Amino acid sequence: VDFRQASFVTSAAKLSQCPEDIGAEVAFAGRSNAGKSSAINTLCDQKALARTSKTPGRTQLINFFAMNEEQRLVDLPGYGYAKVPVAVKEHWQKHLSDYLERRLCLRGVILLSDIRHPLKEFDIHMLDWAAKAQMPVHILLTKADKLKRGPAQSTLLGVQKAVSSYGPQVTAQVFSATKRTGLDQLRGHLNAWLDL
Ligand code: GDP
Repeated sequence: VDFRQASFVTSAAKLSQCPEDIGAEVAFAGRSNAGKSSAINTLCDQKALARTSKTPGRTQLINFFAMNEEQRLVDLPGYGYAKVPVAVKEHWQKHLSDYLERRLCLRGVILLSDIRHPLKEFDIHMLDWAAKAQMPVHILLTKADKLKRGPAQSTLLGVQKAVSSYGPQVTAQVFSATKRTGLDQLRGHLNAWLDL
């Protein structure tokens, strides 16, 4: 898949607004500031592709990027550190679980988690939803450049051990958008999932 071809298609507030459910899709999820936009931009070799998702009013939406007619990347909304009103959170969760459970073309979820504090509440929620929907998850431990190689590898091992209860559907790797660490490994996963 040529990720450099990715371009913004549309934002959806609910399932019915998503593009036609055909071809193959991989979704990116992570709490805000996990490094999701940076990862998508690095992957697609475009400076501002995922900025679309940060446009005020679009942060609660599912954003779609297409490489071609049949292969897409999807930027899922994530809530941040700020306290979100319960009603908003509930709406968001409904929206997200609808998408994860009902979207037929969805092949897997890339879950981004800061390597310095991985597997927070958001991440565990996402792993549980994905497990319920029998959806594979590949965890990116982002900003790996913030740690030395040894500590980064031991964090990876710790995370792999912690998620082993989910079975082989959940995998993990280290990643750095800044240093482009793990980019080939990420591309390998995406290519396998997006294979038509
Ligand atoms: P998002 O909210 O998940 O889309 O996160 P962003 O991609 O906007 O990144 C949040 C912050 O982390 C920004 O200040 C980025 O510059 C920084 N960041 C993202 N990726 C990396 C990385 O690989 N290494 C380092 N050192 N910082 C990163």
